[in-house]
Amino acid sequence: MKTSSPKPTDPPRGLVCPRCECRHFEVVKISHAVGYVRRRRACRHCGHRITTTERIVGGGSPRPKGLPVDPI
Ligand SMILES: [Zn+2]
Repeated sequence: MKTSSPKPTDPPRGLVCPRCECRHFEVVKISHAVGYVRRRRACRHCGHRITTTERIVGGGSPRPKGLPVDPI
């Protein structure tokens, strides 16, 4: 069973370099697409590169009309 309670021993949220475990990244490239943004990041310490994809919530694509906003 998984619990969602935060613990201080949990790994830090956000980006952590899998090689050197640092959290200092610089964005080397940003690709915009429909509904999401893809960022190419490079670790400042070891140069390891990773790609992150962030979904755009709200504002990216208009909500289809006719759907209930609060289904309560
Ligand atoms: Zn690194």
